[in-house]
Amino acid sequence: MSQKSEKQKNRLTIAIAGNPNSGKTTMFNALTGAKQHVGNYPGVTVEKREGEVFHEGEWINIVDLPGTYSLTAYSQEELVARKYLVNERPDAVIDIINASTLERNLYLAIQFLELGIPVVFAFNMMDEVRKSGKTIDTQKLSSLFGVPIVETVARTGEGKTEMIETARKHAISKQGEWKPLVLSYGPDLDPLLDEVTRIIELNEIHTNRFPARWIALKYIENDEHILSLVNEKGELARELGDLVQKTEKHLDSTLNMYPEAIIADYRYGYINSIVKQGVVEKTDRQERIAFSDTLDRVLTQRILGPVIMVAVFYAMFYLTFAIGAVPMEWLGAAFNAMGDLVKSLMSEGPIRSLIVSGIIDGVGGVLGFVPLILIMFMMISFLEDSGYMARMAYMLDRVMRIFGLHGCSVMPFIVSGGIPGGCAVPGVMAARTLRSPKEKLATLLTAPFMACGAKVPVFILLAGAFFQESAATALFWITIGAWVAALVVARFLRSTIIRGASTPFVMELPPYRMPTLPGILIHTWERVWQYIKKAGTIILCISVIIWAAMTYPSLPQDRAERYTDKIDQIQKRIDDTPKPSKELTVLREQLKNIHTERAGESLKNSFAGRIGCGFESITKYAGFDWRDNIALLGGFAAKEVIISTLGTAYSLGEMEGGATRSLSERFRNSPGWDVAKALSMIVFVMLYAPCFVTIIAIARESSINWAFFSLVFNTVLAFALSVAVYQVGKLFV
Ligand code: GDP
Ligand code: MG
Repeated sequence: MSQKSEKQKNRLTIAIAGNPNSGKTTMFNALTGAKQHVGNYPGVTVEKREGEVFHEGEWINIVDLPGTYSLTAYSQEELVARKYLVNERPDAVIDIINASTLERNLYLAIQFLELGIPVVFAFNMMDEVRKSGKTIDTQKLSSLFGVPIVETVARTGEGKTEMIETARKHAISKQGEWKPLVLSYGPDLDPLLDEVTRIIELNEIHTNRFPARWIALKYIENDEHILSLVNEKGELARELGDLVQKTEKHLDSTLNMYPEAIIADYRYGYINSIVKQGVVEKTDRQERIAFSDTLDRVLTQRILGPVIMVAVFYAMFYLTFAIGAVPMEWLGAAFNAMGDLVKSLMSEGPIRSLIVSGIIDGVGGVLGFVPLILIMFMMISFLEDSGYMARMAYMLDRVMRIFGLHGCSVMPFIVSGGIPGGCAVPGVMAARTLRSPKEKLATLLTAPFMACGAKVPVFILLAGAFFQESAATALFWITIGAWVAALVVARFLRSTIIRGASTPFVMELPPYRMPTLPGILIHTWERVWQYIKKAGTIILCISVIIWAAMTYPSLPQDRAERYTDKIDQIQKRIDDTPKPSKELTVLREQLKNIHTERAGESLKNSFAGRIGCGFESITKYAGFDWRDNIALLGGFAAKEVIISTLGTAYSLGEMEGGATRSLSERFRNSPGWDVAKALSMIVFVMLYAPCFVTIIAIARESSINWAFFSLVFNTVLAFALSVAVYQVGKLFV
């Protein structure tokens, strides 16, 4: 093992970087084929892929970095990509540049040059450039930038070998030496930049990792990471801060501009001056309106656009659950059959109960979601790769912004159950499309409020029992309520705990493309496999714990014996009664009732039951008694547990099939249940802590701390509102 890593150390390492959607992953896949695996940077959830390519008789390591628009640490991806470059110091970087939007892509390229790392430009999507009639003189541009440039088409693999060869040669000739490009930022900033650079050099602030002028530049650009590095220096930081502030004030009063804007202006100026010399646009543009523009005229039209978008949302949702229902049923049946098999092979006892109720039901419940997740992600990948997702986000951005969210927040909401019946696990994972960590966090924390498929039966049950309207109407209003709650809470979080300016909507609108099947399959599989791996192992432990809590300690012997005696008695009478008779039906009914009664009593006696009773003194303010508490506690593990536990706890008999109606009736007649309690329960179930699998997903997408926060915050919020609803409701009932 260590030998292998020793060998890998001697290899060249080439990083692939570039703007999102420039074709990095496609290129990476073309280079490495199936030899790839997904890894995570420590501490963050942005993925990097590593692979290797055999070239000219030697292996070269290839690293696919997350897409970024800049190297300033405004977003996680940017910070991650940058940290990789300065900490790991790859031998060369290949910047995959979408040559059809050259200027924009070169903005990042310039920052590689300023960092000084050996870089090669791959002008990708040359097929589209040629189609558009634009000509790019790559040789001229190469000499002006002083960087090797290779023309590529990642989709077909065109130019990939030449690209690797160029990068290899470049890396070998540079021998790890970094030579930063020094740009001028004009008469207002240059003096400041020089002064800050001097101070940084003098005090050796991280100059072993970054070029000093580069740190100075990022410091002036308000780069959070660099700011925090400099701020560790105390007194010195204050001196630098004053310097920068003075210039900032001056710039503001003379030009009415921020340093960041001036820096961007100068970079674009530099780019334009070079690009002008090497790129010829086709002049008769009006003649040929790109296919993409024509499509956009319809798809993002002011009225038609949103209508089409809603239709796409609906179709996606419908397809996922319509198609997903079939394999989900198969999986369910398979797990049931497995349970039956175990039941037939083993005699009744704690081990069998553990295997059937603890392991098979628990893990089966989680794996049962796999078809849904697979289909959902396939469609999301399609929308993403085709370019339509960017348009959706663009259209919704203005509304979501009011609540401190982002256009990309809508998809996670919808998937989580924004249209009732979704699931927060893929919903939370869909939040990956969000680029800004703050907006992503606000989305992660509020998406679980939506009416997921496991909450819906609870809502329908309560609505059916206590409200005259049809279940559909009630569900409609509950859904509206969930959206309002998510948006309002997001607004609240964004103005308190996760405060911070919204990131501007810088996602470009790439031309529409037909996604490739391998691309979609790889994207989908990566996401699904993560779900299976993580959720599959942890849920196993949790379901065993829950099973034990609801089973032990078992009933005291005398109580248990009384039930066994009763059951034996009735069983004997059943055996003695002639086959089809009214009496037999009555007896069977009695037998069932005793079974459920026993289940209810052993539940109350169990550890979970005792906890439920323990909480009663607090939860009574929201109207919940010990049985509700067990159900709700079980819901922490999986929301499905709520309805099944309510069933057992209220001795309501089998919860299967068309029992809902009679169930509703029994609820209506249960002492303690009224409209106020039903409303309180609906509010609580809607808002309280996400289920365990969702919490894991949140932890993966943000951090353990935020996952814990969502558990506590949501539960406290839900409880406070439930108490309010219950107490006010009680005044009217
Ligand atoms: P990434 O975000 O940089 O990883 O970009 P992807 O590799 O996911 O590519 C984005 C989209 O561009 C995908 O739909 C690709 O099929 C497409 N694409 C990538 N390279 C090329 C190319 O050279 N020509 C064309 N026409 N499309 C490309
Ligand atoms: Mg990619």
